[in-house]
Amino acid sequence: MSLTTGAPSVDLAQVFPELIPYARTTVRLHPRRGEPGMRDSHIGGPLLWPAGEAWPECTDQKSHGGAADPYPMVPIAQLTAADVPEAGFPAGTDLLQILWCPEWHDRPHPEGWGQACRVFWRRAADVTDVLTDQPDPEEHWDYEWDMIPRACVLQPERVVEYPWEEELPEDLRDRVAAWPAERDLYDDGSAIPGYKVGGSMNWSVSDMPRSLTCLACEAPLALLLQLDTYEWALGAWGPDGEPHRFWPLEERHLEREDPEFDLARQPVGMTVGRAGHGGLFVCSADPAHPPRYFTQ
Ligand SMILES: [Zn+2]
Ligand SMILES: [Zn+2]
Repeated sequence: MSLTTGAPSVDLAQVFPELIPYARTTVRLHPRRGEPGMRDSHIGGPLLWPAGEAWPECTDQKSHGGAADPYPMVPIAQLTAADVPEAGFPAGTDLLQILWCPEWHDRPHPEGWGQACRVFWRRAADVTDVLTDQPDPEEHWDYEWDMIPRACVLQPERVVEYPWEEELPEDLRDRVAAWPAERDLYDDGSAIPGYKVGGSMNWSVSDMPRSLTCLACEAPLALLLQLDTYEWALGAWGPDGEPHRFWPLEERHLEREDPEFDLARQPVGMTVGRAGHGGLFVCSADPAHPPRYFTQ
């Protein structure tokens, strides 16, 4: 099944032609519960991990309540270049793996704030001997604990997106803010919610960090993966009370009372930030530089 985002309520490029150069494509991943294989793209689920390579561990004792043993990191996402070429794979790689330590890591944390993340870029063909016995997060954390993702398969969809308002030049931002239409209509095409690769993040809860730059080389950071508690917001949307744009067309028959509705809207089962979202950012000059993660 493929999932489709609804049409925007307004064509922002028509209202503000100056926005056209800022349009970009984000890839909504549309995770849904499933049983992805080791070689597939997925959220949660098993990684194509080399048997001869140590599983990543987090040794940040002070964020682990003083526990002496390191914590095995938890697979968050695996993406292949075939499914999501937009992830910005360095030359010679075609497999991206993201893991995190689910504990909250105290601020000020050099990598951002929230969970501690690791990013690995590989060539799938190099992984000939696969680690089949992978750490089970349940041995360390109860699945009820909500920073462990449930395994999901993906159905990537490309959607045009405009930047978060603070990323626009000041004069354009002021004109967008002064738009007599309902304020929400800009959000309708900007900083798209849900799990996605690339594009822009909504910074409405905490201000955008003043320097969204790489700590190793100061190049600008790019959003690699947005993690979100919800795939779309509840409630009516737009001037005519339409269903929310980001509720996929194929799932609009679901009733709020259906368990399937919650599974579609909260497929990964994690409460990111304070029931908000988070963004894992990588260096735009060299994706091998340490990533930074921020939650909202
Ligand atoms: Zn940790
Ligand atoms: Zn860098």
